[in-house]
Amino acid sequence: MEQQHTSIALEEMAVQELTSRMRGELLRPGDAGYEQALRVYNGMIDKRPALIAHCVDVADVIAAVNFAREHELTLAVRGGGHSGPGLGTCDDGLVIDLSGMKGMRVDPSARTVRVEGGCTWGEVDHATHPFGLATPSGFISTTGVGGLTLGGGIGYLSRTLGLTIDNLLSVDMVLADGSFVTASAEDHADLFWAVRGGGGNFGVVTSFLFQLHPISTVYGGPMLWPIEQAADLLKFWRDFILNAPEEINGWFGFVTVPPAPPFPEQFHLKKMCVIVWCYSGALEKADERFKPIRANVPPAVDFAGPIPWPVLQSLFDALYPPGLQWYWKADFFTDLSERAIDLHVKYSAQLPTMHSTMHLYPINGAVHRVGPSDTAFSFRDANFSEVIVGVDPDPANNERMIQWARDYWMALHPYSAGGGYVNMMMDEGANNVKAAYRDNYARLAQIKATYDPSNLFHVNQNITPTR
Ligand SMILES: Cc1cc2nc3c(=O)[nH]c(=O)nc-3n(C[C@H](O)[C@H](O)[C@H](O)COP(=O)(O)OP(=O)(O)OC[C@H]3O[C@@H](n4cnc5c(N)ncnc54)[C@H](O)[C@@H]3O)c2cc1C
Repeated sequence: MEQQHTSIALEEMAVQELTSRMRGELLRPGDAGYEQALRVYNGMIDKRPALIAHCVDVADVIAAVNFAREHELTLAVRGGGHSGPGLGTCDDGLVIDLSGMKGMRVDPSARTVRVEGGCTWGEVDHATHPFGLATPSGFISTTGVGGLTLGGGIGYLSRTLGLTIDNLLSVDMVLADGSFVTASAEDHADLFWAVRGGGGNFGVVTSFLFQLHPISTVYGGPMLWPIEQAADLLKFWRDFILNAPEEINGWFGFVTVPPAPPFPEQFHLKKMCVIVWCYSGALEKADERFKPIRANVPPAVDFAGPIPWPVLQSLFDALYPPGLQWYWKADFFTDLSERAIDLHVKYSAQLPTMHSTMHLYPINGAVHRVGPSDTAFSFRDANFSEVIVGVDPDPANNERMIQWARDYWMALHPYSAGGGYVNMMMDEGANNVKAAYRDNYARLAQIKATYDPSNLFHVNQNITPTR
């Protein structure tokens, strides 16, 4: 991904010039705050940029983009810093760090929120919840709005309201030539098509405008079952979620129960199956909706109940603090065959560390109402998004957990729809990026050639500019 641009020795005067053009701080190795600023969420990533531009406004972003282009520097753009392969940073080049751009404006009558590029989803929830409003995001509150949205955005409201990009109304962007545009269905429609799934390939998004929905207190949370029930439970969940009303979401996972409250002691450190629910329909109907689940597959632990949206969104934040080692593998699935279920049962019994996990996110319902070529996100006909992640605080366990994730993914891949979610992949090369976009890749490559012909924005799941 960093093949095309090499860094050059930065002359003091040039650096001083960029400093003078920025309102935010420009950090170099040795500066106070540099060591802290270079860290990203995945502790496995150890990169040392030559410059970290802590941008605080659009003018800072324009100055940094122009500087990187003029000095032929590798350029990385960081939103929330959650990328598995560390695509929010680079060695030797320039990092545009948007974490200082936290502005937000809720318009309660239009039910929209304007969000600057450095916000996390927890910050968005904080701003919109007092209005009883929310927009679809992910499953954890610390993830950046930037990367999650630009890759698609799969979360607790996908079946109900679609992907995050299906609720995106417009973006403000700084392009590779330093110009500023607003892209929407009306303006720069090709660019707006591309950023809805095409990642950070097309420029720096300085702000996003989202549609909000009346989501305030939902009915949700985890239910857990013994791992021995995995095969039967997976079959039950598959059939249930493919036919459930769209206001019911529930992702399936294999987990190791943390040895702490609120989990009952007899389950501590046990491998278990989990379904984490989010029902956003009428609360008075929730018990009725969950009755067939509780009757047919009674859970061993049942935490589902009324819960404020921001609380559901942040339930797992403490379990996954920044700095852990992460290794991701992903695929989309149209169906879950008996053979695929057998393989899930086999590999779930081998979860290598307490934090390691496998999730299956349902992406039917509202996600399917948008066509495969309506946005860059192609897999609109898939029903499930699978992610296998080896996670642990101790790098000594990396080899073991990486091997488990690879073996698990390889075993299931023949049953997949053929590509994975770009936001849940490591740096896996051009063929896997192409597989993620299928027929949309050629159009993405053309739009890339229009807006970023020299591939300045290449530290991402990269799309090669092609006319
Ligand atoms: C703990 C955890 C939970 C997650 N849960 C979910 C989930 O529930 N649903 C889901 O869909 N994904 C989820 N993800 C994956 C997540 O969507 C990706 O890691 C995403 O890239 C993170 O975005 P970020 O801005 O935090 O990352 P960064 O590392 O900052 O950026 C990732 C990529 O996006 C680009 N980028 C970021 N912001 C901008 C911007 N403003 N303009 C241009 N380019 C930009 C970067 O250049 C980089 O290529 C999760 C990740 C983690 C670590």
